[in-house]
Amino acid sequence: MKFKILIIFIFFYIPNICFSQTLPASILQGGLIVGQLDQGDSLKLNGTDLKISRDKQFVFAVGRDELGPMNITVLKNNEVISINQIKVIEREYEIQRINGLPKKMVSPDEEVLKRIIADNKIIVNAKKLDLDNTYFSNSFMIPTEGIISGVFGSQRILNDVPKSPHKGLDIAAPEGQTVVSTNNGVITLAEDDLYYTGGTIIIDHGHGVKSIYAHLLTVDVKVGQKITKGEPIGKVGSTGRSTGPHLHWGVMWFDEYVDPQLLIN
Ligand SMILES: [Zn+2]
Repeated sequence: MKFKILIIFIFFYIPNICFSQTLPASILQGGLIVGQLDQGDSLKLNGTDLKISRDKQFVFAVGRDELGPMNITVLKNNEVISINQIKVIEREYEIQRINGLPKKMVSPDEEVLKRIIADNKIIVNAKKLDLDNTYFSNSFMIPTEGIISGVFGSQRILNDVPKSPHKGLDIAAPEGQTVVSTNNGVITLAEDDLYYTGGTIIIDHGHGVKSIYAHLLTVDVKVGQKITKGEPIGKVGSTGRSTGPHLHWGVMWFDEYVDPQLLIN
């Protein structure tokens, strides 16, 4: 019986008889859960069928603000054999309040808003892909070395308006430093100049799992290209809305962002 917990990047094996012994009792917000089933078994997550690969692998995310419990139903040959509630452990995120800012720093003007909406469409299309690859079950690596300058989940409240929480990890590094792919995958977005994120790449690792790399000085890959873990994809920059050279690295499962630091610890 295989059961490996890497703090949050949990890989669990579910034999059909003693499921409750192999499933973790609790999982942390911002985690990516990867597992393996027996032949004939399937899962429902909160009542919805979870995609299972041909070799019976699956993945799902625990969102930043997920309160749980998450309900996992195990089925054998389409018959329910157990219903399990997994507790979600809440985290405390860094909150920064800044008041008295001039209005234009808080809300973008109309022209900028148009650009942001157009950019979002491109990003949303890449995020909703559901490819059959199972690269997500390989371990992830840090895409560039540097100083952690921003953590997952932190949030700024500007003039009492909560901005969206930070969706990844910021790694401050010299401009031009090589950025590599965090895992095997397929390039599904490669843009030189998005408004917020500047030079941006999304790599698809299968079953809804993607990694995003932002503020790149150069984007050295093309959409559709297959990429291996550790392969160079671009260079650290400060493009888009950025105050200095750094890599913004995010990992998501469809719309749900997870904490990249939990994948490499
Ligand atoms: Zn960032």
